[in-house]
Amino acid sequence: MQTLDNFNFKGQKAFVRVDFNVPLDEKFNITDDTRIRAAIPTLKKILADGGSIILGSHLGRPKGVDGKYSLQHILPRISELLGVKVEFANDSLGKEAAEKSAALQPGQVLLLENLRFYAAEEGKPRGLADDASDEEKAAAKKAEKANQKEMAKQLASYATVYVNDAFGTAHRAHASTAIIADYFDAGHKTFGYLMQNEIDAVEKVLKDTARPFTAIMGGSKVSSKIDIIENLLTKVDNLIIAGGMTYTFAKALGGKIGDSICEDDKLDLALSLIRKAKDSKVNLVLAVDAKAADAFSNDANTQFVPVDKIPDGWEGMDIGPETEKLFAKVIESSKTILWNGPTGVFEFDNFAGGSAAVGAAIVRATENGAFSLVGGGDSVACVNKFGIADKMSYVSTGGGALLEFIEGKELPGIKAIRG
Ligand code: AMP
Repeated sequence: MQTLDNFNFKGQKAFVRVDFNVPLDEKFNITDDTRIRAAIPTLKKILADGGSIILGSHLGRPKGVDGKYSLQHILPRISELLGVKVEFANDSLGKEAAEKSAALQPGQVLLLENLRFYAAEEGKPRGLADDASDEEKAAAKKAEKANQKEMAKQLASYATVYVNDAFGTAHRAHASTAIIADYFDAGHKTFGYLMQNEIDAVEKVLKDTARPFTAIMGGSKVSSKIDIIENLLTKVDNLIIAGGMTYTFAKALGGKIGDSICEDDKLDLALSLIRKAKDSKVNLVLAVDAKAADAFSNDANTQFVPVDKIPDGWEGMDIGPETEKLFAKVIESSKTILWNGPTGVFEFDNFAGGSAAVGAAIVRATENGAFSLVGGGDSVACVNKFGIADKMSYVSTGGGALLEFIEGKELPGIKAIRG
């Protein structure tokens, strides 16, 4: 397989799929440019070799051409971070995109307009009438798939080499993230540094695992984490369950959880996960106490209570001190750590203590030689809030892509290049 470092971009035109789907405020100022910064090393390598770059990205979820989602809003920041004046094409498929790509000289960079202005990027029909028949839906789907191939072919025609550095969309089989790769031979398509680093980090955790391996799964709901938990049960030594999921498990085990968040239709599932953990000899670690509140508010009254004895009118908003100690002990004895999801409502400072304690334990373990991967959901916001992101071994930029990768699914964006 081709790698970015092995490829000499001199005289080449690279179509680089990046994930510049950055958050913007109402005045279109970028509020977090992490995703742009993350792609800069790849872009600099191509330019340093003497290549030119055609940048493709999506921004938001436009339903068609919509100025609100124009990539022009982020053009100045890309130029600033890259240190090169980036040109812009008001389109990604039209004459302007083709002409400006053709005119690119070594060292130059062109940003195409939002790829999702076209339904073909995602390959899903838009604007189908609600009462469309199944035949009509199937025909529209087929037509859009054909359009998707055409779009991929057109984008590919601008360049001599394809680089995918958009890990955030690697779980999507879109025109520019996967289908386009079919139009380049194996020697002319490769991952960017960011994508390669993400893949290496996940594979270090799941394939090349130093043991003991501990996963900390937090967040709000069991239902959104079932597939990951089931896959992890075949891989980890310790599985720590935290966050809102705690109370579904506590209730399933016969506990009294007051007004805590709970998925009553997932009680059986919680019990079956407990059984599976036992069968797989995985040490399932559940919270023993909670910081309960009498309202869902930072200013609510609080008390520490056993997780199975939460009074009515109170809800578990974070783990308690006994649980912090229990989790820290497991984490600090680990050599591989995966953290996905906070232990409580970390957005409220009064309920961020458990997540901060877990973060601190991971920092200590990492300093002692463990490999720690943080990502998905709100975990990244969490480590940023506590100022410990640079103390983790790797903080993923991927949300859904990371979770699907950990679930064991084959990601189209990775398969397209690696085969
Ligand atoms: P996720 O996106 O699945 O990682 O979920 C993160 C969300 O779970 C955050 O917004 C937290 O506020 C929320 N959360 C964590 N613990 C609790 C809890 N005990 N009760 C309600 N929400 C929670």
